[in-house]
Amino acid sequence: MAGNDGNSLIAWLPELLYTGGRFERGQALVCDSGIIVRLARVDELKDEKRIRLSNRAILPGMVNAHSHAFQRVLRGRTEHRTSNRQDSFWTWREMMYSAATRLTPEDIYDASRLAFLEMVLNGITAVGEFHYLQHAPDSTPYDDSNLLAKEVVRAAGDVGVRIALLRVAYARSGFQSEPNPRQSRFIEKDPPTYLKNLESLISDLGRGSDPTATAWVGVAPHSIRAVPLDYLCEVITYANQHDLKVHMHVAEQPAEVSACVEEYRRTPIALLETEGLLSERFTAVHAIHVTPKAIPSFAKRGAMVCACPTTERNLGDGVVPADEYLKHNVPICLGTDSHAQIDLLEDARELEYHLRLQKLERAVLDKQLQVSSSKSQVGELGRLATQLFDCATINGARSIGSPDGSLEPGKAADFFTIDLNDPSVAGASTVDLLSSIVFSASRAAVREVVVGGKPIVSEGQHLIQEEIVERFNDLQKKLWS
Ligand SMILES: [Zn+2]
Repeated sequence: MAGNDGNSLIAWLPELLYTGGRFERGQALVCDSGIIVRLARVDELKDEKRIRLSNRAILPGMVNAHSHAFQRVLRGRTEHRTSNRQDSFWTWREMMYSAATRLTPEDIYDASRLAFLEMVLNGITAVGEFHYLQHAPDSTPYDDSNLLAKEVVRAAGDVGVRIALLRVAYARSGFQSEPNPRQSRFIEKDPPTYLKNLESLISDLGRGSDPTATAWVGVAPHSIRAVPLDYLCEVITYANQHDLKVHMHVAEQPAEVSACVEEYRRTPIALLETEGLLSERFTAVHAIHVTPKAIPSFAKRGAMVCACPTTERNLGDGVVPADEYLKHNVPICLGTDSHAQIDLLEDARELEYHLRLQKLERAVLDKQLQVSSSKSQVGELGRLATQLFDCATINGARSIGSPDGSLEPGKAADFFTIDLNDPSVAGASTVDLLSSIVFSASRAAVREVVVGGKPIVSEGQHLIQEEIVERFNDLQKKLWS
């Protein structure tokens, strides 16, 4: 490789660089072919090509661990009462289905591109796409059973964001419930059909073991409601044998928990635990309605939780008991889920803020850190922000198997910059900058985004932003007028 003579080495020279939980001055990020090869002091550089970023802090790209990209078409269209009874997650879901049943493959591409564009403009460099639209609107399988998954992957590739396509297994409406015709685009009735289609997608995209991978596959049994136990066991066994990540909606709504208890005489977590389905590969999305007693099973098995606070507040789901998870050292990652808003730093701060509202107390998660963490070399001003930023970066990367999430040798060169003169963070010192970013940065402060060493956002603009927005405007007109 050309790295030996230094010709292909690129040194990014920001004012501040975030690594090892702190901001460093006078450090360069040296990359080769999209991979970080070392961090070096500026005076140690030789003949690397230098790219100076004045008044900028470089931070590792954020990882959005839970997305349904097509749901971006619903934004602004569900914030009203639809029934005389209480509106809820379930009434919202009917509105979501009415959009989901109408989208063509090209529509899904256009909606996904807009969602991914918004993500990268926020500093997100990798996404876990929980993908459940498989068939044509009339429920006929396409000639290529992965056509829609590939449209989403194509959209990610065109925007430049890495993607874990978490292919959903979906078998039924729920325990003893009538089939809902609006779910027919999602359903693959038996494990052999699902696994055949999954394998075909893996042979196209891969499993993501390579640090330069831009798209790879994971498995996503939709929920205990939608996947009966024998199906679930077969899918997760396959994932474990083939070293694939497993994502699943767990305990988002109380009704889902009571249906599980009715069917299996166990709560969702107890069911997953006793059937041996939790592991280090497993991420439980939401995991809101859980008892404190259930949380140690996550810790015991090394499973993770993905919180989606902006969606959870939008849907009235409830509050993720992040304090309880932290108490047991269960890692939490973050997702923008329904895309009511796409701003992963907002999700990071809401993880803490929701607990403040619930407990009438400040710095709730910091209290957990004071108790549980002696490892941190970060001062008290940055301790909570560091933890929340880890949720948005390192933990997300682990959850979806992405090669980024931190700025260290061997990782992908995925990062974003913050303009230190942006009014939302101006005046911060290296000690309180991360807290300013996590709790207060506006999206306008994100100026450059680089994925695999390649700039995809410059001066706050994506290279093909106008075209993506124009096509999406047309799609929304077609769908809603
Ligand atoms: Zn979801």
